[in-house]
Amino acid sequence: MTSEAERKMQFLFALRSRGVTDARVLDAMEKVDRGPFVKGLFAERAYEDMPLPIACGQTISQPSVVGLMTQALKVSPRDKVLEVGTGSGYQAAILAHLARRVYTVDRYKRLVTEARAIFDAQDITNITAFTADGSHGLPDQAPFDRILVTAAAEDPPGPLLAQLKIGGIMVVPVGQSDTVQSLIRVTRSDTGYDYDELRPVRFVPLLEGLGKE
Ligand code: SAH
Repeated sequence: MTSEAERKMQFLFALRSRGVTDARVLDAMEKVDRGPFVKGLFAERAYEDMPLPIACGQTISQPSVVGLMTQALKVSPRDKVLEVGTGSGYQAAILAHLARRVYTVDRYKRLVTEARAIFDAQDITNITAFTADGSHGLPDQAPFDRILVTAAAEDPPGPLLAQLKIGGIMVVPVGQSDTVQSLIRVTRSDTGYDYDELRPVRFVPLLEGLGKE
């Protein structure tokens, strides 16, 4: 039986060895327990560096990928962040430790309801979660300093680009579903958008409309 301290050390070691080196990101990931975000059969694997199935046929991302995406987003404490693809809520909880305010949306009401319950239980009060098609962004809350998309789009969605502040950063997996996608970082300048290709990733697709559950 591994002790909790040992498990935590192994978890952080896996993150570091896969390139998560930003001290603030590592600190946030140390604070947010992944356990409650993984339910049922897979709960005992919550501390392994692998993606796992969650409700509604979706997945909670691999912790090292969460870390690398969060690191690429360069979140600062005053930022207002939009996450598209709440899923389990794990990524949003990490962002909540790094930013002033986090808005997160998922097309499945069930996932949003379950994630909200975990945020409440963990006393995280700076996340607002909505059931919505996030490919349209959140016009009422825009513009955002940072946008993180955790589902793969064929192209960075236009409404999200438009809702990014000048100087803002968006991280988004881009590519066809079921193939290897590229993680892209988009930086908005006062004259346009700069694109950086970061690494290959694999995410579930960004779909239109609301889910059935
Ligand atoms: N960030 C999550 C993992 C996301 S899995 C976590 O930390 O657990 C991708 C999620 O994107 C799924 O829950 C899926 O329902 C959601 N999704 C896909 N298309 C969407 C859309 N258009 N709007 C909002 N959410 C979407």
